[in-house]
Amino acid sequence: MGRIVEWFRTIARRIRAWWVALRAPGQFLCDSCRYDYGDACRRPERPNARRCEDYRRR
Ligand code: SF4
Repeated sequence: MGRIVEWFRTIARRIRAWWVALRAPGQFLCDSCRYDYGDACRRPERPNARRCEDYRRR
């Protein structure tokens, strides 16, 4: 059961990342992300992420 839930969460994160990137073509998501400060985000694509599964709007 836990594996199915995790699978659905993964799919949901990917769909969300795709949708966010679709709505902001050509923009760097980090500029409007709530995790773009200090050590809050350690993703290698920061600060120029165009698609990100952890993106949350400020
Ligand atoms: S979570 Fe993603 S969008 Fe947000 S700052 Fe990190 S890399 Fe950028």
